[in-house]
Amino acid sequence: MGKIAVLPGDGIGPEVMQQAIKVLNKVSEKYKKTFEYTFADVGGIAIDNHGTPLPDDTVKTCENADAILFGSVGGPKWENLPPEQQPERGALLPLRAHFKLFCNIRPIKIFNPLKSASSLKEEYIPNGLDIVFFRELTGGIYFGQPKEISADRTVGKDTMIYSKPEIDRISRLAFDAARLRSKKVTSVDKANVLMNSIVWRETITELHKEYSDVELGHMYVDNAAMQLVRNPSQFDVIVTGNMFGDILSDAAAMLTGSLGMLPSASINESKFGLYEPIGGTAPDIAGQNIANPIAQVLSAALMLRYTFGMDEAACDIENAIEAILEEGYRTGDIYNKGSDQKLVKTDEMGDLISAKI
Ligand code: NAD
Repeated sequence: MGKIAVLPGDGIGPEVMQQAIKVLNKVSEKYKKTFEYTFADVGGIAIDNHGTPLPDDTVKTCENADAILFGSVGGPKWENLPPEQQPERGALLPLRAHFKLFCNIRPIKIFNPLKSASSLKEEYIPNGLDIVFFRELTGGIYFGQPKEISADRTVGKDTMIYSKPEIDRISRLAFDAARLRSKKVTSVDKANVLMNSIVWRETITELHKEYSDVELGHMYVDNAAMQLVRNPSQFDVIVTGNMFGDILSDAAAMLTGSLGMLPSASINESKFGLYEPIGGTAPDIAGQNIANPIAQVLSAALMLRYTFGMDEAACDIENAIEAILEEGYRTGDIYNKGSDQKLVKTDEMGDLISAKI
């Protein structure tokens, strides 16, 4: 049995989450795997109902689960609260810290039927795009100490630090993932300038001896930024530190041309994970049954792959989505006016995907 803490959150969160559950129920039937869902409040709705964006009961629900399926949090109603009480800062960051989610996984995939939505001309992505980022999430310059501003506020200081065990554990996950894909890892660093990058490069090179069936390449972060917009198809799995991964994965996300299509995962050493779309709560379209549920459904697919080890079921979902898009079904955000595409609502998209499983 798989125990899932379901945290739909705010805005479009609940509507797209319903579709993810619909698809998971279909997977459950087909693969004879039972899922138990426990719903809990998080974000703005938790502030309204319990006075805090991350109530203790919600944390307990997550502790009793194998994975968290997260929607998104925030919205205009809570925007003027102090930063630590804001839905995103007050819920997501503490959850990541509490569960030691050190590895952020972000697939950047352009489904073939959506190639024209990319910010790149089709000639740069002749075979579409299918990259996965493994970004270290709990170390590096965002957390290194000392981190301070001088009393007269004229000097700011951050510390970029990485140690061998931190590099080793994320690199292992990247190599393992590459084995399920095209067996190619690119490690991104700045080893020509940064000491912690030298340790990064040496550590992953040493670990590579255990993964000699996987090809390992190294690239400086400035070159990686250029290559991502010049020839992104050369990449398969990219592994990198916290800040480099933050910047590069956002730039790469834009290559796909649609926020409503991108999932992400943050996992820890015991494969417990928080799975969520990279987009926000889309308050402009919330409650209208027009949001694109695909990112949320793909987040559920990542959960099957990384927490439950159900790679075949995850591929099943991804293929179902590709097939539906191939047949011309689109939600408003990816619909081309004047085309012969079929415009569908959020729940219809959920029905179409689950019918294909
Ligand atoms: P957003 O991602 O919510 O929306 C940006 C644009 O993309 C909007 O036009 C929206 O309609 C569209 N969009 C996003 N997801 C979509 C989907 N699934 N289907 C169709 N269209 C979609 O970003 P924003 O407007 O900057 O933020 C809105 C709120 O979400 C803010 O309160 C912000 O703090 C919060 N937010 C939360 C998270 C999170 O929970 N992880 C992440 C980003 C933003």
